[in-house]
Amino acid sequence: MTPLDLIALEKRHVWHPFTQMRDWEASDPLLIESGDGIMLRGSDGRDYYDANSSMWLNVHGHGRPEIDNAIRVQLDKIAQVTLLGLTHEPAALLAARLAEIAPEGLSRVFFSDNGSTAVEVALKMAFQYWQHKGESRPRFVALNDGYHGDTIGAVSVGGVSLFHGIFKPLLFTAEFIPSPALAQNAAEAAAQLEEVLDRYPGEISAVVMEPIVQMAGGILVQPPGYLKAVRELCDRHNVLLIFDEVATGFGRTGTMFACEQEDVAPDFLCLAKGLTGGYMPLAATLTHEGIYEAFLGDYHEWKTFTHGHSYGGNPLACAAALATLDIFEQDNVLAGLPAKIAHIRETLETFRDLPHVNSIRQAGLAAGIALIKDKDAGTPYALEDAIGPKICARARELGLITRPLGPIITFLPPLVGTNEQITEMLEIIRQAIVDVTGE
Ligand code: PLP
Repeated sequence: MTPLDLIALEKRHVWHPFTQMRDWEASDPLLIESGDGIMLRGSDGRDYYDANSSMWLNVHGHGRPEIDNAIRVQLDKIAQVTLLGLTHEPAALLAARLAEIAPEGLSRVFFSDNGSTAVEVALKMAFQYWQHKGESRPRFVALNDGYHGDTIGAVSVGGVSLFHGIFKPLLFTAEFIPSPALAQNAAEAAAQLEEVLDRYPGEISAVVMEPIVQMAGGILVQPPGYLKAVRELCDRHNVLLIFDEVATGFGRTGTMFACEQEDVAPDFLCLAKGLTGGYMPLAATLTHEGIYEAFLGDYHEWKTFTHGHSYGGNPLACAAALATLDIFEQDNVLAGLPAKIAHIRETLETFRDLPHVNSIRQAGLAAGIALIKDKDAGTPYALEDAIGPKICARARELGLITRPLGPIITFLPPLVGTNEQITEMLEIIRQAIVDVTGE
């Protein structure tokens, strides 16, 4: 079949995520045929920069021989083994490896297969933990502008109303506090959390949040000291703490896990996306022995965690994850990140001169360029201006793929990108902004 035939076929049958399908049907979709390093090859024969790491997933580049080989080697043995009643070598090795690199104490690993389920698992484990302790705690605390995925539990603690408002009648109880990025400092943001913790003594199972930066909410960076303050408040109020590092994990913010930057360990750590280098669907929810032990008992007591996903801990995906972690070590990837992060910061500084750039947000190798219709008058772009999609469409014409978050253009390149490639990518984004805004 020709690429055109394939596109016609897919337009007839595929329903795309987060996509207005009427626009899609009228559009000229890009069919990706292959990838190499940080480049994607389209069926049009052109190469495109993968400037959002294929939706914040890719870490060491596409087509890494080490990851490809690890998957092939496992494929020669077996492609899938259920963790319901059986186990396998890559799951055992990966769980031990994650426990080794995670913040101290997080030694138990529950595998699932995507970021939303990693969060669902943490929420349900936290709730059930309190049940086992003889307490019913029906509430969670979450942040405005937080995003934890699209399954109903994850949506219940999601704070991006544009994505999830419609599902409100289906959701469980969560208390939302303002995004800490809006506070003057960590103390102010922590006081907002404390106020809610004080309001519902003995009713809150856990606080759930993305640490250091709320990614899908608009690359919202938290004030320094916030995580430490949150941990201290959770301890004082005897409430569990869930860190969703689905987007921030695996080097994205400059350290293996974002919470390391404040030396804070949560009670649950949710991982997905970069866990397999962006090659296979896999997720993990880590917790400590204190939680795990509360679920132990005689069979008839039914303290079992009755939750699981058919493909959770898939051996091919675990093999990809092990190879991804090997590359972190072999290539000393984390040591190379500060120079790249500084280069992104310096280059983005020059964007501030553009008349429609309102703010630049950055946490490590995650950046957002927020656009505004009229800076002097403070007039935002309206939804119907579709400024983000238009700029990303222009960037694609110029040879770069990324996605907007409303009026914010995101830049989350694979960690393997060089400074030279970063310069080229940001040059394209800058050009796309100028072309679409006209100045
Ligand atoms: N949590 C965070 C912080 C995310 O950014 C995302 C996805 O972007 C998710 C959870 C959901 O992950 P998935 O799309 O794999 O379900």
